[in-house]
Amino acid sequence: MSILIDGKATSDRIKGQIAQQVKEIIAKGGKQPHLAAILVGEDGASKTYVGHKEKACAQVGFKSTLYKFPADITEEFLLNQIEAINNDSDIDGLIVQLPLPSHIDENKVIEAIDPNKDVDGFHPQNVGKMMLNLPTFLPATPYGIVRLLQEYNISTKGKHAVILGRSNIVGRPMANLLSQKAEFGDCTVTICHSRTPDIEYYTKQADIIVAAIGIPEFLKGNMVKEGAVVIDVGITRMPDETKKQGFRLVGDVEFSSVEPKCSYITPVPGGVGPMTIVSLMHNTLKAAENK
Ligand code: NAP
Repeated sequence: MSILIDGKATSDRIKGQIAQQVKEIIAKGGKQPHLAAILVGEDGASKTYVGHKEKACAQVGFKSTLYKFPADITEEFLLNQIEAINNDSDIDGLIVQLPLPSHIDENKVIEAIDPNKDVDGFHPQNVGKMMLNLPTFLPATPYGIVRLLQEYNISTKGKHAVILGRSNIVGRPMANLLSQKAEFGDCTVTICHSRTPDIEYYTKQADIIVAAIGIPEFLKGNMVKEGAVVIDVGITRMPDETKKQGFRLVGDVEFSSVEPKCSYITPVPGGVGPMTIVSLMHNTLKAAENK
């Protein structure tokens, strides 16, 4: 029998704390923190994520501005918009919702964002600072996971963490944070990816598993050792006619077979997703305070 890690309740609690801090800033005559988001194209999941971020801004008392552009804008146009937002002193944080249409170079776009407004923590300067354990904006999903582990008093010290996935936004920063000489780190980390043979060999040894590959129910109960902590990052929309939206969200973990074996587990939805959003709010408040 495992303990369900409630990302929704945890994120609501942290949002309440951020909202209180915003009230105090404003009571002292400070400026309302302001997050800008750029959304290019009509991707349904991206629209949903941006919608969640706008809603969270309203909940914590931030101002938010959404810049919506059609999928056929040029890269140059987008870079010019980013420059204008960089120069807008009212805006504290800027996120560009990924993925972008294939004719736009994501790396160029990320590098164009002012590192002081890069609340997603994707700019190379901020990634470098994270690697060196210097103060910076930590990428929202890995930071949200670290917060969850802390909130549930799950010790990471000396534990073997196996990360499934090596993306720049989840897998690799996650591996970096958990391996750092820090309160939330001190793990021995293994990263698995699509070229890793016999993934089971690694997951069976893991004290902590972070699954971030985007394959529904990839991790099964027979791949997990008794008592492991399992963090499910995956979000895939699976067609489901019984749902109003026509789909349901499925994680990378087969909950029914993994849950009875592990000590802690995050659900999908309601686990890592809400923590990603609240981490973004945390980073935006930090950006506003840094000014
Ligand atoms: P991504 O950029 O597509 O990366 C997927 C990673 O999984 C890659 O490193 C890939 O390996 C690896 N992989 C693919 N198939 C594999 C297999 N059969 N065995 C082992 N590794 C395999 O994905 P991402 O952006 O990191 O996102 C991963 C999942 O998390 C997605 O479902 C996404 O929607 C979700 N997500 C959730 C949140 C949240 O807030 N909950 C935030 C971000 C992402 P290679 O590098 O070898 O290709």
